[in-house]
Amino acid sequence: MGTQARTPSMRSLFLRVPGWPGHRAGQHVDVRLTAEDGYRAERSYSIASAPDAPLVELAVERLEGGEVSPYLVDEVRAGDRFEVRGPLGGYFVWGAADGGPLFLAAGGSGIAPLMAMVRVAAPAGVPFRLLYSCRSLTEAAYREQLAGMERAGSAHALTGSMEVRLTLTRTQPAGWDGYRRRVDLAMLAEVAWPPAAAPLCYVCGPSGFVAAVADGLAALGHPAERIRTERFGPTG
Ligand SMILES: Cc1cc2nc3c(=O)[nH]c(=O)nc-3n(C[C@H](O)[C@H](O)[C@H](O)COP(=O)(O)OP(=O)(O)OC[C@H]3O[C@@H](n4cnc5c(N)ncnc54)[C@H](O)[C@@H]3O)c2cc1C
Repeated sequence: MGTQARTPSMRSLFLRVPGWPGHRAGQHVDVRLTAEDGYRAERSYSIASAPDAPLVELAVERLEGGEVSPYLVDEVRAGDRFEVRGPLGGYFVWGAADGGPLFLAAGGSGIAPLMAMVRVAAPAGVPFRLLYSCRSLTEAAYREQLAGMERAGSAHALTGSMEVRLTLTRTQPAGWDGYRRRVDLAMLAEVAWPPAAAPLCYVCGPSGFVAAVADGLAALGHPAERIRTERFGPTG
């Protein structure tokens, strides 16, 4: 196993899983840690890597005071071993055969399963728009990878078919001209494909974020069966 810091609070873990059966973009694994005294803790983490990647990537955000995430972000070292179960989940999944366009909305670590999706969509030429809500620019993970996909998208025949928009909800760098508020209806109306384009929508992040985005998409006229959600935790 190897690791890579994504932001000051998020770290990617790259797992070599013997007998890994392969996964679909959007699925997760359950990670089980066992302490020396036998105490066990188990948490779910989405798979950020594309199905054809050689290692399974998890992107874990440190939740201050949490039992498991500070350990995975700050303590785990290359070569450590732990138990994973998966891939799990059959609803919040997407593959190129499902078609597009895709509207993806991520709050914080909710970017993880959506990275797996854009890593499939970009090489397949499936148009996507990603709205990514972060507290600050330094908390925005995968910026280089996403910018590379945007550049490739605009060089592609489908000009502008891969668009990434950030909203920075707490602090913004000097000169920031992007969004600086929580996702709301006006923002969704600007960024999401119109309902007439019949996008498939995937929304992932803290519960409050997911509820706000899913309600907003429904209010804009997107049918419920084209909006899929994954909630990472209890708070907004
Ligand atoms: C299907 C699924 C996929 C997930 N994928 C990811 C992922 O890719 N990356 C990632 O970082 N996390 C992911 N999570 C969240 C993850 O499972 C843990 O909940 C998170 O890491 C916190 O665990 P902890 O042991 O550190 O905190 P805990 O000790 O469980 O909780 C500490 C405190 O934080 C609250 N809390 C717990 N989880 C959250 C949360 N997510 N947001 C806000 N408050 C919370 C608890 O109520 C408690 O008060 C996923 C969750 C689910 C259900």
